Amino acid sequence: MQLAPSLASLLNRQLNNELQASYSYLAMSAWFETTAFPGFTQWMTLQSQEETAHAMKFYQYMNDRDCRVTLEAIEKPRTDFDSPLDVFRSSLAQEEKVTEQIHALYNAAEDARDHETKNFLNWFLGEQVEEEKTLRDMIERLELVGDDPIGLLKMDEEANARIATPAEG
Ligand code: MG
Repeated sequence: MQLAPSLASLLNRQLNNELQASYSYLAMSAWFETTAFPGFTQWMTLQSQEETAHAMKFYQYMNDRDCRVTLEAIEKPRTDFDSPLDVFRSSLAQEEKVTEQIHALYNAAEDARDHETKNFLNWFLGEQVEEEKTLRDMIERLELVGDDPIGLLKMDEEANARIATPAEG
């Protein structure tokens, strides 16, 4: 079944949004590189790679549906932050925006009665729940730790233990 042009255009935009998210996380990683927190740096690098993998899921799906991908410009991301807490709050705001984008896409797939696209998007709905939960947990703990260096270093150590898994992609 042919993808509705309006839906194809939204999928193409979401591919761009995921690359935008990847770029933004890479900027966060670059900021952490200038701090005493190698674990958070690593965490953000992995997060950036994960978003690129999300973009590639859209890329692959569009091609599978015989739909041409058109790459668009990626905006300059925010590059300066005040603290680890500021970075993670900014991450959560970004993921909440992505969740809204996925919802809009899902609604469009429903309107077009495109069941395959709804099925494809189901994975992203679950992923967004995970992403938001992880970030909320990090923010809660960072708020608790405040400016305590020992607490921050412990959290950084834990962040360093994060490894990329195929399930994350
Ligand atoms: Mg994503």
